[in-house]
Amino acid sequence: MKKRKPWYEYLWIFSAVYLTLGIFNILFAWLGLICFFVPLLISIWKGNKAYCNKYCGRGQLFELLGGRFGLSRQQAPPKFLRSKWFRYGFLTFFMTMFGLMLYSTYLVFAGADLREAVTLLWVFRLPWNWVNTSFAAPAVAQFAFGFYGVMLTSTVLGLVTMILFKPRSWCVYCPMGTMTQGICQLKHRKDDSNGRKSKTNCGTAENACQ
Ligand code: SF4
Repeated sequence: MKKRKPWYEYLWIFSAVYLTLGIFNILFAWLGLICFFVPLLISIWKGNKAYCNKYCGRGQLFELLGGRFGLSRQQAPPKFLRSKWFRYGFLTFFMTMFGLMLYSTYLVFAGADLREAVTLLWVFRLPWNWVNTSFAAPAVAQFAFGFYGVMLTSTVLGLVTMILFKPRSWCVYCPMGTMTQGICQLKHRKDDSNGRKSKTNCGTAENACQ
């Protein structure tokens, strides 16, 4: 009898539904915070990359599209993508843009006008004004526009690298993967210096996700 897949192998549905819901109502973008905090909490609490290896719907979606649907060239990603300087440089850039998005939210909270647009790839401003956000506070809506832009940008980058290289090549430089790997390594270093034997399961971004 064919063994049933565990529930967490269907989390790609969550990622696909999340991106679709944002088109109908931008306020659903807030749900994306789950994908921001859960990986961090798992790596802080457990000291491993279980989120990347098991529970990340986005990684599964790339695997599905690039693998089963054949939308990937299946080429190894270039070496520079794996390098520490690129991964940490990209993380720094990504978090700086994230900080600017939070600052825009603050400005709206302080009285500036709500900007009903989603910024793709940090440059292209897509009008997103068909959505009714009047029942939410302007700053709540502004965060949703900004955060959906962050999620859409990372999805587009992931899809491009999926097509050009291997299905999960985005995982090589994904900011969440870099952060959880860093936390995991720090945690194990601390365990080692306290004389406790640590079973390291941090992996590099590439071997955790490819
Ligand atoms: S590296 Fe990023 S996209 Fe890949 S599995 Fe981890 S969190 Fe998901």
